[in-house]
Amino acid sequence: MSILSEPAAAFETLMDLERLHTSGVYNKRPVEIVRGEGVLLWDAQGRCYIDCAAGHGVANIGHGRAEIAAALAAQAQRLITCPESVYNDVRARLLERLAQLMPSGLQRFFLCNSGAEAVEGAIKFARLATGRPGIIATLRGFHGRTFGALSATWERSYREPFAPLVPEIRHVRYNDLAALERAIDDQTAAVLIELVQGEGGVHVADATYVRELARLCQERGILLIVDEVQTGCGRTGRFLACEHYGLQPDLLCLAKGIAGGLPMGVVALGERVIASGRLTPGTHGSTFGGNPLVCAAALETLDIIEREELAERAARLGQHALERLRALQSPLIREVRGLGLLLGVELRTRVQPYLEALLERGVLALPAGPNVIRLLPPLVISEEQLDQALDCLAEVLQAGQPAATAEPRP
Ligand code: PMP
Repeated sequence: MSILSEPAAAFETLMDLERLHTSGVYNKRPVEIVRGEGVLLWDAQGRCYIDCAAGHGVANIGHGRAEIAAALAAQAQRLITCPESVYNDVRARLLERLAQLMPSGLQRFFLCNSGAEAVEGAIKFARLATGRPGIIATLRGFHGRTFGALSATWERSYREPFAPLVPEIRHVRYNDLAALERAIDDQTAAVLIELVQGEGGVHVADATYVRELARLCQERGILLIVDEVQTGCGRTGRFLACEHYGLQPDLLCLAKGIAGGLPMGVVALGERVIASGRLTPGTHGSTFGGNPLVCAAALETLDIIEREELAERAARLGQHALERLRALQSPLIREVRGLGLLLGVELRTRVQPYLEALLERGVLALPAGPNVIRLLPPLVISEEQLDQALDCLAEVLQAGQPAATAEPRP
């Protein structure tokens, strides 16, 4: 039944109420989450879940952080909104902090409010800086739902209903340098890639591919855009996935984990982009971008990531999880992949029933395409909590079919 045809009086709980008024564009799980602390989430009935989704890779520092609440409260009393047409002290401190965290060639930033908006900005900046329209993206890549970002996203079912999309954006096979070389022409402005494809199934880029890709872009005068919306902020075991590859792109997109759960997107701009001289006043902008409230949350978040060594933790625990997952003996498993705490278990079948079985056992995980179970917990997860989640995963996979009648966790 369509949500639109449900009777208005049908709701008994707030979950029903939300269902009644929601747009219908989300595939909603049957759970109402009301509170979080660290890696744990609680639903309206008081059941506790281990969060292996982190709000789609957002809550890297965990839920319910008192430092974020305090930073927000203090900044909200001082100043919430302040457009980028004037200067602001908190924004200045955040920009300085970002510059310290980025490779030496990426020292300027455009601030916005989401991953898609960051990718949208990067595409615009690439076209602006080069004066060329062509963007080459990859098969299975995901970059967001606004028109530019959507045009660079590969999944056909996301794109087709909205055609015609932004022209001159093409897709080539991932990890395939020859295909990329063939696709480049004199109209190409930039290549856009994720170093680990998150939504597209947790595929990790080969080191030689990335090295050769960077060389090719340099040689041909093409910009390299790296979308680190999902891989950034410590997720893969380094602050940026670029660090694994020694890569300095021309444009780098961040979002998700950057502001402790508040909406922020960042485009880091390299020297070739700035040196074009084309990013002049009026060429791009955002009303909410760089607002002091979210900047204060981001500053606090970056402090926590550094102080608690969350990237190092993601590297160590990710390795542990990969070893455990690779040791699982289940005929259902096709392949285990990942980097840091961005992990994928590809099954020989559809994953949705297994995700529901996991939820019943108190583990919230995500799909990445139809056949991949994706685990991306907050980076503050303890080894015990991670093991508990992996035990549940092993149980549902070894059961061979979704254990719909499993006892719920208390
Ligand atoms: N790029 C990547 C790599 C992503 O994983 C996502 C979100 N899953 C986006 C862009 C879009 O981010 P947002 O939903 O904040 O627009």
